[in-house]
Amino acid sequence: LSRPETDLQRQRAVLAEGLCAAVRTLAAHGWCRATSGNFSAVLAWKPLCLLITRSGLFKDRLEPGDLVAIDGDARPLPDEAGRPSAEALLHCAIARATGAGAVLHTHSVAATLLGARHAAAGGLAISGYEMLKALEGVESHEEEVFVPVLPNSQDIGELCRGFEALARGHARLRGFLIAGHGLYAWGADVEAARRHVEGLEFLLECEARRTGLGPIG
Ligand SMILES: [Zn+2]
Repeated sequence: LSRPETDLQRQRAVLAEGLCAAVRTLAAHGWCRATSGNFSAVLAWKPLCLLITRSGLFKDRLEPGDLVAIDGDARPLPDEAGRPSAEALLHCAIARATGAGAVLHTHSVAATLLGARHAAAGGLAISGYEMLKALEGVESHEEEVFVPVLPNSQDIGELCRGFEALARGHARLRGFLIAGHGLYAWGADVEAARRHVEGLEFLLECEARRTGLGPIG
């Protein structure tokens, strides 16, 4: 006889499969090299519980057992093995502020270079691309989407405070860059978050190539 599963265990298994499949796809694009990037999905809201990638794993072969369940303060739940990503607290802050069901963080070449280039200006405005419509609420290539840039820091509390200030100041924030580091994006669920990451990464690569940051890939 197999052990009976609870609804939460079943829900966790489905969510974990979906998140891992999305992450392997993002890794195949080359956006999480050298174990970089971290990825989460909300398992429960009250109280907040996220499934998040463990620290230090290659993402191209991510499996559900590579995820750890954490509470709203990024602490692993009892009986969870492994250490969550160092950036887990930022995932909690993003989920809480935006209501996102999934938060995806990539380290692409384009996001790294453009974040550094536009850090002093506080961000970059992107318009004129059909791919903008991959972003929730954007109806036309003529709309302008502003992607803010936060300064990089090894102090996760500082990054959280920076994000919370962005969230207060931008009504339609869909993602942001960290200078010389990478992209954070999110969505209502894993599929929506993946669409936003892929759309934003495509747009960033267009901007990087257009402005002469060299071949990206
Ligand atoms: Zn990172």
